Amino acid sequence: MKVSAIIPAAGSGERFGEAKQFKLLAGRPMLFHTLQPFLRSDAIDEVIVVVPGDDVHSTHRDVLSMSAGKPVKVVAGGSRRQDSVKRGVDASDPDSTLVCIHDAARPFVTEDLIQNSISACENADGAVVALPSKDTVKYSENGLVKDTIDREKIWLAQTPQTFHKEKLLLALDNADSENLTGTDESALMEAMGFSVTLIEGNTNNFKITTMDDWERAEQVLNSTLRQTQGTMGS
Ligand code: C5P
Repeated sequence: MKVSAIIPAAGSGERFGEAKQFKLLAGRPMLFHTLQPFLRSDAIDEVIVVVPGDDVHSTHRDVLSMSAGKPVKVVAGGSRRQDSVKRGVDASDPDSTLVCIHDAARPFVTEDLIQNSISACENADGAVVALPSKDTVKYSENGLVKDTIDREKIWLAQTPQTFHKEKLLLALDNADSENLTGTDESALMEAMGFSVTLIEGNTNNFKITTMDDWERAEQVLNSTLRQTQGTMGS
């Protein structure tokens, strides 16, 4: 069984104010931190990075220099996240049967989360890393609460999200013909009635959307660095 990792990194960073995937986080582009666990993981056979068209060439050069022999491809993204993912899937090795999709904007993914989302696909059409909700969730319309949703049933979706490739391709085609736009690929799989299971994630695997998230990411990296230096010094 071959697994292709697809890293959509072609967003324009509208909510953040700039394209953050290449912004330096602890001295390295954010994308570098995100890619490391995928390049190291024995469960991943190839890595496909999806970036804005103008960045394909320079990203390819940089990613090759860190890939340590693992096959890597860099392709141009599309206007929506799912268009970028589709281009990544289309570029994948024809022999790969699973695709493991992960946001470039989640630099604290671990090899364990990658492995767990892949293993869970033995018994389902796909698996999504997610966190159970700690807060009570309200459904609102026009600023008024319409309903309180049973917290036990609420999970907050992260990535990695791993799917059987042929089924994901059907879901992406269906989204095109039905004019569906999903905020993640799982939503497109669900719309087809495919089974998607949940894997418990961790709070460090947060998505960097705002400058506050960026500062939190810098704190996490600085404290990891201090711990490493402390261990080496002791
Ligand atoms: O917009 P959202 O927060 O869902 O973006 C998640 C990931 O999808 C980011 O890493 C972003 O770079 C990527 N993306 C993409 N192509 C787009 C839009 C978003 O690869 N057209």
